[in-house]
Amino acid sequence: MIIRPRRLRQSKTLREMVRETSISARDFIYPLFVKHGRSLKEPIASMPGQYQFSVDTLVEEAEEAWSLGVPAVILFGLPDRKDAVGSRSYADDGIVQQALSAIKGRVPDMVLMTDVCLCEYTDHGHCGMIKEGRVDNDATLELLAKQAVSHAVAGAHFVAPSDMMDGRVAAIRSALDAAGFQDTGILAYAVKYASGFYGPFREAAESAPRFGDRTSYQMDPPNAREALKEALLDMEEGADMIMVKPALAYLDIIRRVREECLLPLAAYNVSGEYAMVKAAQNQGWIDGEKIMMEILLSIKRAGADLILTYFAKEAAKVLGQSIL
Ligand SMILES: [Zn+2]
Repeated sequence: MIIRPRRLRQSKTLREMVRETSISARDFIYPLFVKHGRSLKEPIASMPGQYQFSVDTLVEEAEEAWSLGVPAVILFGLPDRKDAVGSRSYADDGIVQQALSAIKGRVPDMVLMTDVCLCEYTDHGHCGMIKEGRVDNDATLELLAKQAVSHAVAGAHFVAPSDMMDGRVAAIRSALDAAGFQDTGILAYAVKYASGFYGPFREAAESAPRFGDRTSYQMDPPNAREALKEALLDMEEGADMIMVKPALAYLDIIRRVREECLLPLAAYNVSGEYAMVKAAQNQGWIDGEKIMMEILLSIKRAGADLILTYFAKEAAKVLGQSIL
């Protein structure tokens, strides 16, 4: 035998030398949930290890993530009250706005991203304005733009629209520019599927729709060409980075978007992907740490540059101990 692939697997050192993909804490964006109150750190039952924080405890969490090498957070707000248009999403004293300035004060170099959507703020739980029982695309754009500008005013470096309305990246870009925020970036949830993997998140963000579902605006899971269409549209509209969501059941989509798109590509390792690992780990059925690292690696290998993940802190600790 002339060719023996096993020669390259003989020792740990050698294996590390020929490794094709690497992962680091610098690849992670840590999603965090923030609500009104003080000294709160309320566990999210379906996502062990994840919490709803008040601003004071959120700042500590962000600081800890930063100290572990995680460069960025993305914030999701739980408002004190909800209404038909989600007006607390663009209030100066809104919860995300307060959180932004607090983190900025304590961890000034951390990259601050915010989720821009209406579902956490509307009493009906949909991602847009409702007109005649339907989510009205164009009326929603104005509200999203207002929310994005409000986050920029409070210190967001990147706003991340997750609503899947048509034309929202362009609407947000022009509103940011008009308000003097030319340097605030947009991370577009360009390719977001109507997925069952978001279940635990809806408990965490208290954002389940009161009627119907999100299939009229989020993408249909069987479609792959359409993902490229969505990604290219958001690029043309001015997105600075784009995202595929969820990650694990959509690794082929991450790869295809990577091949067609020049922008930094993020993938969201969503709540259901996290919850499944934690549930099986707690049962003693799997080696949770090993599977966490393997999943994160698979997302990177598929082509993502950045990974939004609830594992950010935990994986950063593992990576601090060894090079994977
Ligand atoms: Zn939404």
